Amino acid sequence: MQAISELQTTNKTICLRGNVMTGNGFQKTAVWFEKGVISAVGDATGADEEDMHIIDVGDAFIVPGFIDLHMHGIHQYLIDNGPADLKQIAQIILKYGITSFLPTVCPRREGEDIAFLKTLAVVQSEGANILGFHLEGPFIKLTGSLVANTIAKADPARVKALIEATKPYRSVFSISPDLDNITDIIPLMAAGNTPVFMTHTAANVMQTKAAIALGASHATHFYDVFPCPPVTEPGVRPCGIVEAILADEQISVDFILDGVHVDPIAVKMAMVCKANGPGRVCLITDSNIGAGLHAGRFIFGENGEVEIAYKGAPVRKTADNTLAGSGLTMDQAVRNAMEYLEIGLADAVTMASANPARVLGVADKKGTIAPGFDADMVVLDARHHVLQTWVSGEQRFVKG
Ligand SMILES: [Zn+2]
Repeated sequence: MQAISELQTTNKTICLRGNVMTGNGFQKTAVWFEKGVISAVGDATGADEEDMHIIDVGDAFIVPGFIDLHMHGIHQYLIDNGPADLKQIAQIILKYGITSFLPTVCPRREGEDIAFLKTLAVVQSEGANILGFHLEGPFIKLTGSLVANTIAKADPARVKALIEATKPYRSVFSISPDLDNITDIIPLMAAGNTPVFMTHTAANVMQTKAAIALGASHATHFYDVFPCPPVTEPGVRPCGIVEAILADEQISVDFILDGVHVDPIAVKMAMVCKANGPGRVCLITDSNIGAGLHAGRFIFGENGEVEIAYKGAPVRKTADNTLAGSGLTMDQAVRNAMEYLEIGLADAVTMASANPARVLGVADKKGTIAPGFDADMVVLDARHHVLQTWVSGEQRFVKG
């Protein structure tokens, strides 16, 4: 194998051979790429192999890099702690197969958030690609584990200021369709085909449809902080945002598949509802500080102390034991999907790569191993643990 430093500086074609996830399932073949972009998938290219770096991973799996739409932290780092932590996180998540992500920011009080986002927006990742910032609030109705007094009224001027603050990255907002006057601000958030996520909500069917009509297109940590509507007519099962989203096959959803946040049967239900057309069910981590480490206690910003009981366990506030994100890593989420949903590796990987790429409107460049796509790939061993991670054609992680 070539040294990493050599591979990062080369302009030569790189050939990665192994058990490649193609459009026709796994095939023992090769992926060829140069200048960060896949040029061919197949054994024979007719090219002179002397001008290439050839890396053969044997029977290991070569799959598209994972894309995490929703993550707050990893190991001892938290996005909400600032740019130094963000830089560390972008590096560490390579180890778990993430090649692109939306760093997710908790809401702050008005006047504090703009300056903070500007400090994050100057970060240029040397690890996984930053595809935008996910703002989980302040325009949400139910706080969940977020700080209660950071929730804001629907204010168009504030939306514009937040969008401005994250430039050159885009702002992907999570909103609640039942927040007063939310329909005034969704079109601002959805401008330029930016996805708008729904979450932290007890919206009714009408409110949900109104949000969708204006551009809301995805539900994040679906079922979590989507409480059941009250029974108003004995004997009649009430419907609300969950049913409205399941009934609309255009709307995509994502799940924290750690075995606690959502029952696998509810994920299977969503997979059936979204079975027509391209996949609309995604895996996220919603990982918090402490994820990837062994059991321990950590400080989740202003939310106070949290605890992880075992590796991969949900994060819980020590004060009241309530859920506060997960201790998942994305490779574990993929393995969990295979086990809990009884699906194969290719389907589980698709939920963590092509499907989230589609949510973000980058499915023509990311999430698939095919000519013309970015060379963002993960090499997995026989037990589906990460051996290598490639971003933009550079080998940025190798298991030691
Ligand atoms: Zn979150």
